[in-house]
Amino acid sequence: MARLDPLTGLPNRLLLRERLAQALARLQRGGEPYALLLIDLDRFKPVNDTLGHPIGDLLLAKVADRLRSTVRPTDTVARIGGDEFVILQTGIREAGNTQALARRIVDLISRTYMVEGHLLTIGASVGVALAPTDGESADKLLKNADLALYRAKLDGRGTYRFYEPEMDARMQARRRLELDMRQALARREFQLHYQPQLQLDGDRLIGCEALIRWKHPERGLISPLDFIPLAEEIGLIVPIGEWVIRQACRDATTWPAGMSVAVNVSPAQFKSDRLVETIISALASSGLSAKRLEVEITEGVLLQESVKTLQTLHRLRELGIRVSMDDFGTGYSSLSYLRSFPFDKIKIDRSFVQDLASKPDGDAIIRAIAGLGKSLGMTTVAEGVETPEQMQRIREEGCTDVQGYLISKPIPSDDLLQFLTSYRPNL
Ligand code: C2E
Ligand code: MG
Ligand code: MG
Repeated sequence: MARLDPLTGLPNRLLLRERLAQALARLQRGGEPYALLLIDLDRFKPVNDTLGHPIGDLLLAKVADRLRSTVRPTDTVARIGGDEFVILQTGIREAGNTQALARRIVDLISRTYMVEGHLLTIGASVGVALAPTDGESADKLLKNADLALYRAKLDGRGTYRFYEPEMDARMQARRRLELDMRQALARREFQLHYQPQLQLDGDRLIGCEALIRWKHPERGLISPLDFIPLAEEIGLIVPIGEWVIRQACRDATTWPAGMSVAVNVSPAQFKSDRLVETIISALASSGLSAKRLEVEITEGVLLQESVKTLQTLHRLRELGIRVSMDDFGTGYSSLSYLRSFPFDKIKIDRSFVQDLASKPDGDAIIRAIAGLGKSLGMTTVAEGVETPEQMQRIREEGCTDVQGYLISKPIPSDDLLQFLTSYRPNL
């Protein structure tokens, strides 16, 4: 009994270890290769959180049944964690056997479940390691299957990946970056650059977006695209984001009155309860008026716990802070999000501005969003405007503001004041 999982009746980690050792011994006596498939359920946690553990448990039991039904009697299916399963596939005659099993698992797990009247869908990510090629000890195989699983999740989940040696190298690079990033705040290696925004009515500069840079001691200036996703994943975005908010508020107090500052806020910052407090404290200690602060969010923010997120957004609005929808048009349901919260500003993603010249109907989307903004009383900013031609088209389509290299690239904060005071519209 101590070696079976009570919920599913499957072998637990202990029994899996024994079976692995046996398979290993057979292999050493000249037996057949075997494979370890590490399975992690996608979107299981929301089921557990919203419908409760009893439903979650029933669902896990059904998953176990499906897994059992798709392997041969000589294989082992084990449950080694909350929503983690392992299959030990033995007697592999040809390489295709394992791939076929991995594909079958992904497909099988993602079919709809009926649990106590609820229709549920989850998914599975699978990482595969093969013995003896990917390791001859149980630990090594589990570790490599885990690396492959990590890859499968990064590649969008709902898929399987086989271990490859380069996954090790990548994981080490990632660990190094992670260690460096944990120290970067204390070492003052982050900087803010500011990109000005132009209001087309009157050609006036009305504000700047704060964009973070990491001045790495060895690697030089690192783009946010290369470290923000990792910072989000490991939770470091919360302290980094707090630094951004405080620094941006301080910097903005030195700008001409009336110029506002926009900061990008990540989904993980919304999850932590401190966001509103942090912002209030940053405004108070810098003395910046709330009217001059703008928060930019992407659809990722609204995808999660939407009730709580909307409450936070409304609190920000009540404080007088403006809220913008960033990268508009790139997500799954941009339009429905516009209805869920009265945004002050829509930032039209750069890709649509690029389409202006390159696609026959490239202007249709920008025109539509500009019109939408107008009827909803929202400012519309075209992002990534690089050429005078784009600028001309943007004006004609009715956007209210622009931001892009044509006005200026993001500017280090030391040089910003000089730019702001000497800027002459030349458009
Ligand atoms: P974003 O918020 O959409 O910022 C606009 C990005 O477009 C910036 O890239 C900017 O440099 C770039 N850009 C602006 N005008 C042009 C143009 O005319 N042409 C081209 N090709 N690019 C233009 P950057 O600074 O690399 O930032 C990338 C993304 O990283 C930002 O996208 C934002 O999502 C994120 N990010 C930056 N700073 C922060 C931060 O402090 N916190 C968080 N959470 N995310 C940040
Ligand atoms: Mg932004
Ligand atoms: Mg954007």
